[in-house]
Amino acid sequence: MSTKGIISVDEQWTKADGAKLLKQYGCGPIPFMGADGLYDRHLLFDNIKDLAAIPGRERYEAFARSVRDVLSQRWLLTGKTYERENPKRVYYLSMEFLLGRSSASNVINLLLDPFVAQTAKQKDIDLLCLLEQEPDAGLGNGGLGRLAACFLDSMATLQLPAMGYGLRYEFGIFKQSIEDGWQHEQGDNWLRHPDPWEVARPDEAVELKLNCSFELQGGSFRAVPGRPSTLLGIPYDRPVVGYGGKTINTLRLWAATASNSFDFQEFSSGDFASALADTLAAGSLTRVLYPDDSTSKGQGLRFVQEYFLVACSLADLVRRFRKTNADWSELADKVAIQLNDTHPAMAVPELLRILLDEAHLEWDQAWDLTRKALAYTNHTLLPEALEKWPLYWFETMLPRHLEIILEINRRLLDDARDRFPGDEKRIERVSIVEEGAARKIRMANLAIVGSHATNGVAAIHSELLRTTTVKELAELFPERFNNKTNGVTPRRWLLLANPALAHAITGAIGNVWVTDLDKLNNLKPFAENASFRAAFRDAKHEAKSQFANWLKTTSGQVIDPNSIFDVHVKRIHEYKRQLLNALRVAVLYNRLRENPDLQMIPRTFFFAGKAAPAYRLAKLIIKLINNLAGTIDGDPVVRGRLKIVFLPEYCVSLAEHLIPASDVSNQISTAGYEASGTSNMKFMMNGALTIGTRDGATIEMAEAAGEENFFMFGLTADQVVSSRGWYNPYWHYENEPETRAALDLIFSDYLSRNEPGTFAPLRDTLLTHGDFYMHLADLKSYLDADRRLVELYAQPDDWARKAILNIASSGRFSSDRTINEYAIDIWNVKPCPVP
Ligand SMILES: *Cc1c(COP(=O)(O)O)cnc(C)c1O
Repeated sequence: MSTKGIISVDEQWTKADGAKLLKQYGCGPIPFMGADGLYDRHLLFDNIKDLAAIPGRERYEAFARSVRDVLSQRWLLTGKTYERENPKRVYYLSMEFLLGRSSASNVINLLLDPFVAQTAKQKDIDLLCLLEQEPDAGLGNGGLGRLAACFLDSMATLQLPAMGYGLRYEFGIFKQSIEDGWQHEQGDNWLRHPDPWEVARPDEAVELKLNCSFELQGGSFRAVPGRPSTLLGIPYDRPVVGYGGKTINTLRLWAATASNSFDFQEFSSGDFASALADTLAAGSLTRVLYPDDSTSKGQGLRFVQEYFLVACSLADLVRRFRKTNADWSELADKVAIQLNDTHPAMAVPELLRILLDEAHLEWDQAWDLTRKALAYTNHTLLPEALEKWPLYWFETMLPRHLEIILEINRRLLDDARDRFPGDEKRIERVSIVEEGAARKIRMANLAIVGSHATNGVAAIHSELLRTTTVKELAELFPERFNNKTNGVTPRRWLLLANPALAHAITGAIGNVWVTDLDKLNNLKPFAENASFRAAFRDAKHEAKSQFANWLKTTSGQVIDPNSIFDVHVKRIHEYKRQLLNALRVAVLYNRLRENPDLQMIPRTFFFAGKAAPAYRLAKLIIKLINNLAGTIDGDPVVRGRLKIVFLPEYCVSLAEHLIPASDVSNQISTAGYEASGTSNMKFMMNGALTIGTRDGATIEMAEAAGEENFFMFGLTADQVVSSRGWYNPYWHYENEPETRAALDLIFSDYLSRNEPGTFAPLRDTLLTHGDFYMHLADLKSYLDADRRLVELYAQPDDWARKAILNIASSGRFSSDRTINEYAIDIWNVKPCPVP
């Protein structure tokens, strides 16, 4: 039996404390566990099986349901309080919520962890094992979806009257396995078993009319334009527990079904099969999450998914607004809607449509309310990620919305022409419509024009957005542009994921940091405290050993917890430059081959991340890393000194296992291309040192901690832009012997003896096609930074000092700080405490 690792046991905790807490949550005298407790009742009555025969999954469900029982009264009370107080509310619209697991996080936020740990101990329940039964809710691709999940945690913790809206994908992000070094994808049927954390609310379903229907054709599901149909959106609610259990907000996820399960008319007329087929097809709309990160592929179903999210959510929140407010003119005083990227940007024409066609307001008032209610967050400057939908799709599927968009655009361009007469180049850039053979709607332009605030997600990103990507719009509406540097929740990413370190920190400065992360500043003097440095090192070693054990039991792989854990985990993308890291390891490998007696601290390089299934080069990078790993493993010269581990199936729970165990965090994107990054912050909080480029929020992290506590290298964003004209990767190949040897290792099929030519496309991208992401330009300075880093690691006290200073400076990167800024600068909402 083990409770250590996820939930810590507090010896001070007594049964009376537990009873008191449960009473506070309105649970009365029912005990949580014990013969007549919540857990045992669920175990018995939900399963109707011999207790001894109930499998682990059902035990997890009974456990989660009993935690849900504890919070249910408080959840209801939160809703009632909002109805009574009628505060201005926040609605966070996002196509992705990368939630991960809910149980341990809810237990911790409800402050039930010591209680649960103690009763589990008494009842001889393996809590760790029980919690591992829960599948990740992988309803997102990466950082954007995880940000939405961290924001929910912070909004509830800050007691803001907030709600998340998203889609209930039956299949989240695909499961990744590695076969022969190649990525394979499997469907993630995460709802195969009932999810104890969701509550279906069929009585609050929303009906919406579309000018298209759906059919399954040759196994593929598609939208049929011009054939009207009616869809039902069924809400599934999930509790969002604020830390301390005071506020329990709601994440509402929509599932699509056809409006009637089938039509008896059609049934009797013999067309039963086609009616049923339509029903099945309509229900497929929310079946799958699109697995592309930082790219927009323009599929018709994605377009309908986006509209479905917007239409269901706006109908729902307008209905709620109307219940307590008589006057439409108050809409923007009661409602703040945040658009997480352009994916929900159809909220602009949809809200206008509601105000014009259903509330019968005049254009000017409807437009004013729409803009005041909406705000937009931009997440990327990559041109391939900026959504543009064919105008023709609006025409055939959402004709009224197109009419509204064109009217917005007409007024916008009139205004722009007044202010910049004769500047047609500018007008062309400002326009919501991209002209050409196939006209397109630019969703970013629509979102900026139709909202009162546009923010980027780190200082450098907001600046580049304003001065390059949408420069002309920023000149029209300068007051709308602002920055909100991302953050992550310290509850999940430190308190829950890293109990040993959390315990050491609390021992030094108390536990206020959990809800006020700036208090980590008080750790600064402890960098000079030998016993705290020892506590930090013990915590790190504990996390590394635990990770090594976890890896051994789940995959059989053996790693050395005394080696440097050097970690690079994130979606696989050329701009994130996993290829640059692979080249670094190839150089280190070559050094050992050249000089087998070289002294070197043993190192383990971890990679993890998924590639979009259609992104061939990203998948080839995974193959390269795996082949390099295999070659190194098979080479007796380097055994025990160098190892690469590619961990399949990167997801939130894997991140929670790995990040606390990391010594080194790789944040090495081509400068100017990573909007913010958030894993960089998770690593910093967990006492890893960063080796990275001056990009995204890493710049602000280094500023907060002092660059002397970071290992920064490489071209700056300005240098990347200014060297584009003359940059020549061949120069590095020809003039840097280590660069050349590393590339030759790959190009010579040394790593792919049985599959010659496999890596030829890498030669194309790195040399022939000009190395767009400038890997070779940064390799040498990466290696220099790497050398400094390893030298520091050889001085454990100096390393611990810097790591502690990093933790102490990470307070700014709590999502509580980010959300507080949104609340004040963009939403104008205040906490609404639940009594
Ligand atoms: C934090 C997180 C991300 C974002 O990582 P970046 O390195 O910022 O791109 C992606 N996926 C998961 C599972 C995460 O936890």
